Amino acid sequence: MTIHRTAPPPAQDTATPATTPAAPVDTTPTGSEPAATGTPADGADVAGAPVDAPAPAGTDKPAATINDCSTEISGNDAMQFDVGSMTVPSSCSELTINLRHSGTMPVVAMGHNVVITKASDREAVAADGMGAGADGDYVKADDARVIAHTELIGGGETTSVTFPVGAIQGEGPYEFVCRFPGHWAIMRGPIQVG
Ligand code: ZN
Repeated sequence: MTIHRTAPPPAQDTATPATTPAAPVDTTPTGSEPAATGTPADGADVAGAPVDAPAPAGTDKPAATINDCSTEISGNDAMQFDVGSMTVPSSCSELTINLRHSGTMPVVAMGHNVVITKASDREAVAADGMGAGADGDYVKADDARVIAHTELIGGGETTSVTFPVGAIQGEGPYEFVCRFPGHWAIMRGPIQVG
């Protein structure tokens, strides 16, 4: 009788000599890929970033803190604002919004801005703003529906905008939105005078 042994599958040859039970951990540094393109592909959770289904805008984040009619909001590389809503004291005649990009990705890949519009103008303003491009902050020039907006910034940058509070005391509801393509579906929240 003969015992004919076939060669082991080549895949086993590539296994690490050590008997580590776990699969090799991909230690790719975070930020090397734009992980927030909407497709939670294999390994997308390597960096530990929350890339699950987009949460409804503004529901799981704290309200903005507004002091002296000024507030700070930040956007990150995971396409998220850190606040979910803004309630402006009615004693304020103007509101200043300071936007900070807490990430490192460039403006062309993960740009953020803050644009104030009526919620009902959300889609139309987004569609019309596409043609403006990054240089135009993805806001159509002289768009009367745009109440205020900051410029578009990339990682590590800051910007701000000041506008009259009276502009958001009409028929709302109003909202703040990032107008970078695709971001407006997630990066937004209500803004009102309280
Ligand atoms: Zn953005």
